[in-house]
Amino acid sequence: CGIVGYVGAKPALDVVIEGLARLEYRGYDSAGVAILADGGLSTAKRAGKLVNLRNALEEAPPPAGTVGMGHTRWATHGAPNDRNAHPHVDCTGRVAVIHNGIIENFAALRAELTERGHELGSDTDTEVVAHLLEEGLREAGEGGLPEAMRRVCRMLEGAFTLVAVYAGDPDVVVGARRNSPLVVGVGEGENFLASDVAAFIAHTRDAIELGQDQVVELRRDGVTVTDFEGKPAEVHEYHVDWDV
Ligand code: GLU
Repeated sequence: CGIVGYVGAKPALDVVIEGLARLEYRGYDSAGVAILADGGLSTAKRAGKLVNLRNALEEAPPPAGTVGMGHTRWATHGAPNDRNAHPHVDCTGRVAVIHNGIIENFAALRAELTERGHELGSDTDTEVVAHLLEEGLREAGEGGLPEAMRRVCRMLEGAFTLVAVYAGDPDVVVGARRNSPLVVGVGEGENFLASDVAAFIAHTRDAIELGQDQVVELRRDGVTVTDFEGKPAEVHEYHVDWDV
């Protein structure tokens, strides 16, 4: 029900948890984070309130990194337990994805993935995306995570805000949306992604509303937006001058 992504110079975990706290009013049943650091990917997720996740992170702190993402879940497919909480990872443990919405054709995609040898560990519609990104990364080659995300989005039906990170491309966060909101917060040497400007308003009030069927590549020094085919999209930056 809430999504936050961050690329910058600050500790990503703090920015992401603070952002999730600002989205708590939307309601949720589980929460989780993914942080890229030291060439690897760390995830933590817990059913229940953000305090459960905070406690888990205190007990087993992830390595400090400046790229990461966080999620609050409102379960639609699969019980609200730790296992079904987001992020979901692929078989290599190097790709993580968070999702708000519903992937309508997940059952068919899941059957195909299982046939190709993937082992899925949750009951969610979301997890197929992590495994499809794993395959997409192999096919995308130089195009990396943004191109993999475009390929995967073309296979999906339904409503989704997706955000993904990949340990092999540690300076980028990729987002995508269809029938579900996603906003970019534009900072100085840092950029944000969120389902709602409330998540990053303490850091920047310059924002870009993503259009329907768009993919965004977020780096420290810039933001690139394309459609699902890879065609560059025009972006309209605006200033958030109301209080949230
Ligand atoms: N459909 C996904 C799930 O049940 C995402 C739910 C959400 O929007 O938080 O895990």
